[in-house]
Amino acid sequence: LSQLYGPLNWLGTYYRMIQQSFIDMENMFELLDESHEIKDIPDARRIAVSTGKIEFRNVNFHYEESKKILKNISFVVPPGQTFALVGHSGSGKSTIIRLLFRFYDVVSGQILIDGQDISLVQQESLRQQIGVVPQDTVLFNANILYNIRYGNVDATDKQVEEAADNADIHERILSFPDGYNTVVGERGLKLSGGEKQRVAIARTILKNPQIVLLDEATSALDTKTERNIQTSLERVCENRTTIIVAHRLSTIIHAHQILVMKEGEVVERGTHDELLQLNGFYADMWHQQLTKKEEGTDDKNGVLNS
Ligand code: ADP
Ligand code: MG
Repeated sequence: LSQLYGPLNWLGTYYRMIQQSFIDMENMFELLDESHEIKDIPDARRIAVSTGKIEFRNVNFHYEESKKILKNISFVVPPGQTFALVGHSGSGKSTIIRLLFRFYDVVSGQILIDGQDISLVQQESLRQQIGVVPQDTVLFNANILYNIRYGNVDATDKQVEEAADNADIHERILSFPDGYNTVVGERGLKLSGGEKQRVAIARTILKNPQIVLLDEATSALDTKTERNIQTSLERVCENRTTIIVAHRLSTIIHAHQILVMKEGEVVERGTHDELLQLNGFYADMWHQQLTKKEEGTDDKNGVLNS
C-alpha cells in the first residue's frame, strides 16, 4: 500500500495543480512546461533581447471565435520602464500577460520585443528572458532552497540567500525549523500568500531577466507585508522593463504609464496624475478605492476584484 501511496499522493498534488490552472493560468507559467498548441515556425531563431523594449501593435485576440477578448491593443513600453494595466475583472489584463509569454499567439497584429515579432522566435528563448511573478505562486514539495533556486538552477547557495534577502524573506526563512532546508509546499510548511509572493520575487531576482511581468495578488495582505512586498517589488522592477497588473491602484502611482482597460479595449492611458486630471474611468476607480479604505468597509484594502 505504501508503494501506492506515493504515486497517488503525487497525482493528487498534480490534479489540484491542474485544477487550479483553469482558475488562474498564470500560476502554471513556471511549473508546467505546457507546450499548448503554440508551435515554433521551422527554423525559428532565438530571440535576442538587448534593452527589453515591448511593443503591442494592433493586437486582436480571442479564445473562442464568438467572443472577442482584446480589441486593437497598441502600446509601447520603453526599456527599463514600469507599465501598469488596470481595469475591472475580465477586461483582458491577464490575457495581455499570457500573450507576451506566448501562451497563445495573437489572432492579428504583432507583439514585438526589441523589434522582434515574438511569434517568429523560439518560445523557449522568449520565456528565458521573461520573469513572471504570478498572482498566486505554487511551491514545489521541496525545500525552500530548491524553490528559490528554481529561478536559476546554477545559482550558489550564497546567491540564493542574497536573492531571498533582496526579496525580504531571508530572515523569515532563518526562522523556519530547518532554515533553508525546510520543506515547503503541499506536504511541508505552508507559507502565507505574502511569503509565497516573496519567494516568486526571489526566483525572479535570481533569474535576472530583462523583462518582468507581475500579476498583483488580490488576496488581503496585512499592511506590513504589503509594504515589504512593495519594497521588494521596486527592487525587482529596477532597470527592468516591467508590466504590472495592479489591483491596488496605490501600487502603481509611480508607473511611467498606466493603461486603463475596459472589456478588451484601452479606454484611457497616462500617468497617475494625468489620469486623475482626466477625471474619467481611472479617477472613478481611484476615488472608489480611497473611499473604501477610509470607510474601512473593504477588508481587502481597496482591491478591484481580480
Ligand atoms: P482580467 O485579467 O482582466 O481579469 P482575463 O484576461 O483573465 O481578464 O480575461 C479576459 C476575458 O477572457 C474574460 O472574459 C475571461 O472569461 C476570458 N477568458 C480568460 N481565459 C480564457 C480561456 N482560457 N478560454 C476562454 N475564455 C477565457
Ligand atoms: Mg487577471
